[in-house]
Amino acid sequence: MFVVMVTPECAPVAKVGGLGDVVQGLANELAIRGNPVEIILPKYDCMRYDRIWGLTKSYGDLSVPYFDRQIHCDVYFGLVDDLKCFFIDPHSEHNFFNRGLFYGHNDDVTRFAFFCRAALEFMLKANKHPEIVHCHDWQTGLVPVLLYEMYKHVGMTHPRVCYTLHNLGHQGITGEHILRQVGLNPGHLITHDRLRDDSRGNAVNLVKGGIVYSNFVTTVSPRYAWEIQYTGLGMGLQHTLRTHSQKLGGVLNGLDYKVWNPEIDSHIPCRYTIETIENKYKNKEALRDRLWLRHGFMPLAAVVSRLDRQKGVELMRHAIFYCLGNGCQVVLLGSSPDAAINNDFLWLKHRLNENPDCHLEVGYNEDLAHLVYPGADVIIVPSAYEPCGLTQMIAMKYGTIPIVRNTGGLADTVFDADHSDRPYHERNGYSFNDYNNQGLESALRRAIGLWHLYPQYFRELMCNAMRYEYSWKDPGTHYLNIYNYIKEP
Ligand code: ADP
Repeated sequence: MFVVMVTPECAPVAKVGGLGDVVQGLANELAIRGNPVEIILPKYDCMRYDRIWGLTKSYGDLSVPYFDRQIHCDVYFGLVDDLKCFFIDPHSEHNFFNRGLFYGHNDDVTRFAFFCRAALEFMLKANKHPEIVHCHDWQTGLVPVLLYEMYKHVGMTHPRVCYTLHNLGHQGITGEHILRQVGLNPGHLITHDRLRDDSRGNAVNLVKGGIVYSNFVTTVSPRYAWEIQYTGLGMGLQHTLRTHSQKLGGVLNGLDYKVWNPEIDSHIPCRYTIETIENKYKNKEALRDRLWLRHGFMPLAAVVSRLDRQKGVELMRHAIFYCLGNGCQVVLLGSSPDAAINNDFLWLKHRLNENPDCHLEVGYNEDLAHLVYPGADVIIVPSAYEPCGLTQMIAMKYGTIPIVRNTGGLADTVFDADHSDRPYHERNGYSFNDYNNQGLESALRRAIGLWHLYPQYFRELMCNAMRYEYSWKDPGTHYLNIYNYIKEP
């Protein structure tokens, strides 16, 4: 099956969060199973060019309509870990993708609406006829709209669209000018059953467009698919999602075990398996050395996260003090695009600087993340909401016990040591329901208590966690089933 992914991110060249990992992991899995896959991305100036092999201009004559003029684009081709990627490079005074950052500009909606039109224009002109176009999040919500309202009539009659929602916290809310920008008729599209936002008057909602016009919509975990239809986590789109529930399903993300695996991870000081799990403690000692933490008989709790309200920054802060007051060391590795949040944590770092049981690293550091997962005993993921979450799954692979809030993908992957209805050998962590300090403490207390009082049970829990298989094998099969289901007969 010929699949084209239209996406704003693909790890490792253009990654802001889990979306980038998913595109890379799923595309690899599809390719391994013999399906031709191509990926279309913007050509950002801030990409990891060192990870693109053989980048060359493959198409130099792409004119993309923009309001009533044309913007000339070059399209580059290169391999990213064997995946075929096309990068669209527009030439205009707007400098859409040469801004040093992937997101965070006032005209982000304009930039990605342009990218959608450019991706379709490229497929048309390059005579690409994928059976499936797979798009991701608000940035590509206009792809199915353009396909069915415009490109179907000029020859792209075959493709079916799968649209994946990675986070409904961002929906691309904008005005009618965006539709005129890409050549669509606002009068026809700003209606309640199409792109009109459900609660903001005449606003255009790009994610709603993606949901309405695609053939299948997926979320990145089954629990999140339910939550966005029946709780406030739909963030205003509950009604639209329930209307289209027939074509909505959740597929849990997979992990790339070539990258995240204590048996082969070349970043870590001492590799290990379930059979040699005692070697994990050498990594704890190495992490302590690296971060100038005290060596002693106590557990080490970690956070590896974007520092975002969604991720529960207030609870992370509380967790730091709770751990330090209850015989547990803490390491936090996190960063935020929001300067105020970063400054809060930098201030906290300064305040705790002399504490030998605490290290806060404010920044993005992939190498350090590879030391934290094997070095920690528990990882704290206190999200307000979590579409899937990769950190808890990565931690489990390294035998590090997740302590999570019971929401979204965290609820689908972590089964409480004391309260789960699963058999004991399938329990793999701790979870809590209430998004407040008491909720968090109820789980942290139990985890720290087990570590101190019943080390043999704690070790069983670690082995249970390591036995879970969250690779791309199952999700790959689910996505292929969805593609087959929506494909033209
Ligand atoms: P999201 O996509 O919402 O940010 P996920 O849990 O799905 O969250 O994915 C987070 C990914 O980013 C994981 O691979 C995690 O290890 C990595 N990560 C998050 N913050 C940092 C950081 N400060 N330094 C290094 N890696 C990080």
